Amino acid sequence: MSSFAQFLKRHTLWVGFLAVLAPLLVMLGMQFTWLSRLEQVSALAQKAAHTNYLEAVGTEVQFYYRSTGERALNIPASLFTQGRLQEAGLFWKKKPVEGVRRLFLVDFTRERFGNYYAFDADHGALLSYPASDEAVAIIVACTPLQLLRYYNRPLVSPGLRVDERDPEYRIILNPITDDTSRVVGVAGMILDEDYFRGTLLPSIVKKALPVFFPGGGAGDLAVTVRNAAGEAVLATGRATDAPDAATTRFPFVFGDWTVSLRSPGTTPEQWARANFAVNTTLSLLLAVALMGGILLALRAADRAVRLSEMKSDFVSNVSHELRTPLASIRVFAELLRLGRTREPEKVQEYGEIIESESRRLSRLIDNILDFSRIESGRKEYRFVDTDLRDVVSATLKTFETHLRHSGFRIASEGLDTPLPPVRVDPDALAQALHNLLDNAVKYSGPERVIAVRLARDDGWAVLSIIDRGIGIPRGEQAKIFDRFHRVGSTLVHEVKGSGLGLSIVRHIVETHGGRIVVESEPGKGSTFSIRLPLRELAGERAGEQPGEAPQAAG
Ligand code: ADP
Repeated sequence: MSSFAQFLKRHTLWVGFLAVLAPLLVMLGMQFTWLSRLEQVSALAQKAAHTNYLEAVGTEVQFYYRSTGERALNIPASLFTQGRLQEAGLFWKKKPVEGVRRLFLVDFTRERFGNYYAFDADHGALLSYPASDEAVAIIVACTPLQLLRYYNRPLVSPGLRVDERDPEYRIILNPITDDTSRVVGVAGMILDEDYFRGTLLPSIVKKALPVFFPGGGAGDLAVTVRNAAGEAVLATGRATDAPDAATTRFPFVFGDWTVSLRSPGTTPEQWARANFAVNTTLSLLLAVALMGGILLALRAADRAVRLSEMKSDFVSNVSHELRTPLASIRVFAELLRLGRTREPEKVQEYGEIIESESRRLSRLIDNILDFSRIESGRKEYRFVDTDLRDVVSATLKTFETHLRHSGFRIASEGLDTPLPPVRVDPDALAQALHNLLDNAVKYSGPERVIAVRLARDDGWAVLSIIDRGIGIPRGEQAKIFDRFHRVGSTLVHEVKGSGLGLSIVRHIVETHGGRIVVESEPGKGSTFSIRLPLRELAGERAGEQPGEAPQAAG
């Protein structure tokens, strides 16, 4: 394997992490940059669209009043110079003017401060103007033009003039000049603010919106018109607290009023930003999920590798375990067959050895068969009310020869104290005890004392197998009950084993509703305790016949 491939293998997690995270970060970074640019460009474009719209509204207003003024106030100078002002009344009567509170004429040719005539729409005639606030407003508005007339000066720039000093009386004036460009009088109108606010402005505002914001974009916009005092005199669209997107002043007559736009709805940039936030969150979640997946896959692969290593160890260990008793059996059987010894004690001893080794062999085969039954969920139990002392004594008896040959001494405790019968499968329990005793023998080292203690602890029957052997490190104590698991120390590896014994013990004990507990200290020995519940089993006993019924457990 190349060193690069080795590097990849060793750092799979980090490589995976970088492979996922790096493109993700690059993608998010690019998205963020594009988004910022888009926001800038789009904000500028939007601001321009808003300003254009507002200016168009202003221009429309200006256009309306200019064209109205130019049409209505264009009175021939001859009416002033020839004293025919009454004809102006007829002139106006024929062309009614919308949005005007009053039309008036001021004649500068007669008196110093001129005569004031107002058009009475009801009578269709010019009437002499009553002294009123309106009359004062007209006098004030006309004074500069009248002064020109008084000082006999020509009007330099003719055309419509506006006087809006008094917000109540917004006046449009058209100075009337003779051939020498001298002012002879004024035609004027006082505007009707209600008309402007209630009719003209809403229609202009409404008409211009779809022109400047096509495609439904106007739906979200709110237009507000404020007077000189800042009061809203017109508000369209949804009420909103959004700040003004753009504001402008009317260019003509209502020059002290402002019109502004707000966008309460979600702008495209806001959509994009929200989208970005969602993208980022989802991508990060995805990255976390992916990393989690990689981690799990690595763990699973690691576990699979370990399991397969354990299995191959298992095969070699089991072959060895099978071979050892077989070899003993063959040797002692051979000795007997060849008649090498005639001494009855020796013959008996060889026979015992052959028997004990065959038992060991069948225990091993039992274990393997049981393991396969447990794995496939086919192991069956046959529960009967049992005196645990009987099971322990019988098991110790069958084990005796093996122990004696191995030089072990067994100290048993509590076998004389009566214990209530417990509902167990005696064969399964004997097998569990065998496995524990087997381990005590295998892992005892030079210390050749094993204690078997049967006791009662509250509602539990406790069967303990105590050795003074090599012990089990704390970190391994939970794992030794897993199938194929063997402690990795050299001391253990000198002893052959299948790694199945304790997993079978645990299965048997748990199927009995009990627990297997280990207390151990390396170098000092181990105590394995099978705890079986007394009380619950007693309760169960009350409900059913001392059972013959086979019970399957997985
Ligand atoms: P094995 O066939 O290897 O003995 P077991 O499942 O019976 O398999 O035991 C699992 C492992 O637990 C053993 O390999 C050994 O490392 C450890 N072990 C079990 N019993 C003892 C004991 N009495 N003392 C020390 N270690 C033990």
